[in-house]
Amino acid sequence: MSPPRPTLYLDWNATAPLRPQARAAVLAVLDAPGNPSSVHGAGRRARDLVERARTQVAALVGASTDRLVFTSGGTEANALGLRALSDGVDVLLVSAIEHDAVLQTARAGAVPVEVWPVTADGVADLDWLERRLARGDRPAVALMLANNETGVIQPVAQAAALVRAAGGRLHVDAVQAAGKIAIDLAALGADTLALSAHKLGGPQGAGALAFAAGVRPTPLWRGGGQEQGLRPGTENVAAIAGFGAAAEAARAALSDASAQAAWRDAAAARLKAAGARIMGEAVPRLPNTLCLAAPGWPSDRQVMWLDLGGVQVSAGAACSSGKVRPSPVLEAMGQGALAPCALRASGGYDTDPSHWSAFADLWLDGYARVTARQRTEVA
Ligand code: PLP
Repeated sequence: MSPPRPTLYLDWNATAPLRPQARAAVLAVLDAPGNPSSVHGAGRRARDLVERARTQVAALVGASTDRLVFTSGGTEANALGLRALSDGVDVLLVSAIEHDAVLQTARAGAVPVEVWPVTADGVADLDWLERRLARGDRPAVALMLANNETGVIQPVAQAAALVRAAGGRLHVDAVQAAGKIAIDLAALGADTLALSAHKLGGPQGAGALAFAAGVRPTPLWRGGGQEQGLRPGTENVAAIAGFGAAAEAARAALSDASAQAAWRDAAAARLKAAGARIMGEAVPRLPNTLCLAAPGWPSDRQVMWLDLGGVQVSAGAACSSGKVRPSPVLEAMGQGALAPCALRASGGYDTDPSHWSAFADLWLDGYARVTARQRTEVA
């Protein structure tokens, strides 16, 4: 039997490997459990860990520790944020490229939803927003800070100014942006902002909602008085402590981003020269994300080819069902014809240039075979 081929993980937007600091923090809690609501020493220690993590996570996004609630992840944080802004509004304007955590939650609510289109580059169309807001009804608006598939960074601060002038409020899904680019809640002008631990090197199953002064979230369910009564249920102390440690490490490493982008771009240039289309290449993107389409090479076959060669990437978003489906994000960008042959590669804190070049080598080898076969079939 041949030795197992080392795998190379380039699917950090699906989930990031646990940072060593986060792992240490999680293990320390698992070895010394305590309920933060207990008054004895073990309880007080657990409370201290939760509050330390709150300070660390709040610092990552410039939030106040008084206005940051821990949740079970990004999905719940988005639901809590949307709920906080939905009372008394006439309409929810939701960008077409939002994650299902936002789109489906919005659609399941009582407030009518309108989808806010994006440009061909995958940027939410501010002209459309301005025209829509001029109608004068009371909106709540959802715009993610960076898209999970394309990495395209959205004009959140500009949107927030328009929304505020129209008397509306803005929810921002910052799940993919956090830890990859600098974030400041006040500078963005967001009313609520959702985060997820596992996208920045914390454990899966922890997230947070940060909110601005004047916003008072309504709990999604009832129970104990944890998290200021905004999120009942015993805190997941281990995951929260890991989240805090990951947030602190991610914040310290934010300056590494330009190197990551340069390695990503060098790989992208090689793929482009062979015929790949790079999504959102003309607009600001997260430094770690590369979304491409290879005409004639279906997404699932690309993923399988790369997986067999030891490189793990994904076909657009990591669909919860595990199935590959054409990307609604690319469809919203008017790139529906390319959606069935899209691919997303995404790096992280221990990705280095050799990972991006190994990915490009393998991809180019596969694409050369596909195009050679197509030429033979045509001939
Ligand atoms: N929002 C975005 C942009 C995401 O990429 C994800 C995860 O893929 C989520 C929300 C959901 O986060 P979680 O997996 O923590 O529930």
